[in-house]
Amino acid sequence: MRACRRCERELPRGALHFRFVLALEGEAEVIDAPAVLAADPEALLRELEAVEPDELEAQIHEDISGVLCPACRAALRAFLHVARPLQ
Ligand SMILES: [Zn+2]
Repeated sequence: MRACRRCERELPRGALHFRFVLALEGEAEVIDAPAVLAADPEALLRELEAVEPDELEAQIHEDISGVLCPACRAALRAFLHVARPLQ
């Protein structure tokens, strides 16, 4: 049976629920930073090679998806400061 991603309450067939897809994209202004531009490119490559690929990917991109019950939808909206009234 389908369950709310946040509160894990079961959502019976036909119950109102909300599907969501959240993409978290990491950003940093490292390319424009003068320190990086002035850095030794080989040293920068060695640093990047030392980072685990999974760790690096998690820092850059993460997808989270699932379904929410109406109460958890409201909680997510409040958390994100969504101002538009619910319909
Ligand atoms: Zn819920």
